[in-house]
Amino acid sequence: MRIAERLKKINPSTTLAITSKAKKLKSEGKDIVNFAAGEPDFDTPDFIKEEAIAAIKAGFTKYTPTTGIPELKKLISEKFKNDNSLEYLPEQIVVSCGAKHSIFNALFVLVNRGDEVLIPSPYWVSYPEMVNLCEGTPRFIKTRPENNFKITAGELEKNINSKTKVFILNTPSNPTGCVYTKEELTQIARILSQKNIFVISDEIYEKLIYDGLKHTSIASFNPQIYDLTITVNGLSKSYSMTGWRIGYLGAAKDIVEAISKLQDHSTSNPTSISQKAAVAALSAPDDFSKKLCEEFERRRDYCAKRLAAMKKISYVLPKGAFYIFFDISKTGLDSGTFANRLLDEEYIALIPGNGFGMDDYCRLSFATSMEQLTKGMDRLEEWLNHG
Ligand code: PMP
Repeated sequence: MRIAERLKKINPSTTLAITSKAKKLKSEGKDIVNFAAGEPDFDTPDFIKEEAIAAIKAGFTKYTPTTGIPELKKLISEKFKNDNSLEYLPEQIVVSCGAKHSIFNALFVLVNRGDEVLIPSPYWVSYPEMVNLCEGTPRFIKTRPENNFKITAGELEKNINSKTKVFILNTPSNPTGCVYTKEELTQIARILSQKNIFVISDEIYEKLIYDGLKHTSIASFNPQIYDLTITVNGLSKSYSMTGWRIGYLGAAKDIVEAISKLQDHSTSNPTSISQKAAVAALSAPDDFSKKLCEEFERRRDYCAKRLAAMKKISYVLPKGAFYIFFDISKTGLDSGTFANRLLDEEYIALIPGNGFGMDDYCRLSFATSMEQLTKGMDRLEEWLNHG
């Protein structure tokens, strides 16, 4: 057997299939409306790029300490304190090649073969596959639209057994945009502390939150939950820096030491130049992500209004991130057929819900211009009415 056993269970990315088909159609000259994007449509701000260029010119192009340069870790430590009321010393922080890498590292050092990892469903596509790669068992907790796709503390408790090791929390969430309130998180934290379950808290969409809501970090409640939490964040979404690959985590010292060892012998440091760019981003006032957030809220409102007028679909209004996850069951189509037909017939690319664990939903990303949104909504409405 050429390929190792552990790869057997791993599914190829479902998002990739539709996006590569959309790219092909675009290269053939078709007028594609892209509702599939997993990244902001804004360019990285110039002041960040300039710092990276300066770093290259100054020869800052060699290995750095594995877990990140001290000035960046200090800024991340301050960011955790100021934004999240979290006290992570610089030595409790590991900078990695994107939040995805941070999450993978956290799972890799926590999960033993056969350990169960609880994942609320719908979920971000990579969580279960990462658990599989770590030879753990993903265990899904189905959420309901009536509860805005959030799990309750009771549902969490019911799903914990002697094999449960980790719970993955994602607020604001991809794909549903749900945001947990402080009260809900308090209840969840109580159960996790009682049962001694680790939590990987993926807070990558923290800055994209609407309706005046405030993001809460679960680790901030008390020393017990702080000790059990690995808080993950990054610069991809809030600074439009997806390609730079900078993510980070804060955690208890023993976890951070284990992750440092893992990173030492796998990727080593994240790119030196990107780290300098991240220093520029985190040293500046938060103006960019505030503007991003305002613009995304405007687009969310527009899309929500348009979708509300389409009788065959329904959705729960997202409170964060840049996606609307909508119910297509009234069309009688499964999500793959829906997405493929929409692409073939109307040149609209969006992501089928099957990869997120919900085959009667699709995910629309509003990280694209108002002009594209208007065009896409017009086409979608027409197609649903007559298709
Ligand atoms: N978590 C979630 C929920 C995401 O949607 C993404 C990006 N699609 C990531 C993590 C990874 O982000 P990064 O670019 O920092 O690896």
